Amino acid sequence: MSAIPLLEGRVIASYGRHYQVEVDQQQVLDCVTRGKQSNVACGDWVRLKLTSPNQGVIESIITRTSLLYRSVEHRSKLIAANVDLAVIVVSPVPSYYDLLVNRCLIAAQAAGIESLICLNKSDLGEVADAAYTKLCSYRELGYNLIRVSAKHDISQLTPYLQGKTSVLVGQSGMGKSSLINALLPEAAVATRDVSSALDSGKHTTTSATLYHLNANSHIIDSPGMQAFGLNHIRAGELDQLFTEFRPYIGHCKYSNCRHTHEPNCAVLNAHEAGKISDARLSAYQDILRGLS
Ligand code: GDP
Ligand code: ZN
Repeated sequence: MSAIPLLEGRVIASYGRHYQVEVDQQQVLDCVTRGKQSNVACGDWVRLKLTSPNQGVIESIITRTSLLYRSVEHRSKLIAANVDLAVIVVSPVPSYYDLLVNRCLIAAQAAGIESLICLNKSDLGEVADAAYTKLCSYRELGYNLIRVSAKHDISQLTPYLQGKTSVLVGQSGMGKSSLINALLPEAAVATRDVSSALDSGKHTTTSATLYHLNANSHIIDSPGMQAFGLNHIRAGELDQLFTEFRPYIGHCKYSNCRHTHEPNCAVLNAHEAGKISDARLSAYQDILRGLS
């Protein structure tokens, strides 16, 4: 008895419980999963069984290198898998929130992926320069920071994307869509039209789409994606994700110290001494409140 061999492919779009899976550069299949619950994300590599020439059933997910979530009504939902880089898009006008930047940095760190803070609208002169100067505090913490203009010049961004699967995240108005449009070659934009045609009537809205920038560089776009979900992080492990807290963790009076109000807390003392910024301590405490 010979079993039908399973095909392998990458999920390039997710619409609720429907997926488009690319099995080679030429062929995209319309797929569903077995069972009611779906835990497949855009970017996943999957094994599938053909049910018709252009349809299939996803049988299994190939081990992921990383997984990112989005926040939906205080729950975390899968958004993208096998991502190497999270590009956090910020702008001077409207101004960005440090808290959201920190939430994204921490989510990326929890997922074990690189992050890049990308100041867009750098053509806006003084306000852009001031925003950049302020963002340099993240560079001092070891994060990558660049400045670009979706309208004029994205040359600082493109080298970071080479050979990777990246995802862009940002508050609305920061210029995420403008950057995606500036990045995508014509062919990818045409694919987008095909996907929305396939989407018509049959599926609900797309939650994420993967585009090819070139043969080995890809970008996952998730419309309306403001920040990553953090609800899957364990409260007791959050402090480790704030890299500059690490020298102080383990030196608090209480071994299970959460660094909020406890006496003789090494992290709070470090903050008092100016070694940890207000923005980072309040981001930590804010995220922690959401977890407990
Ligand atoms: P999104 O909500 O993050 O997807 O932001 P959009 O891409 O829709 O951009 C929001 C607004 O900012 C639009 O009016 C864009 O024209 C503008 N914008 C985007 N990128 C730039 C840029 O590099 N420079 C300037 N001056 N405006 C930009
Ligand atoms: Zn403490």
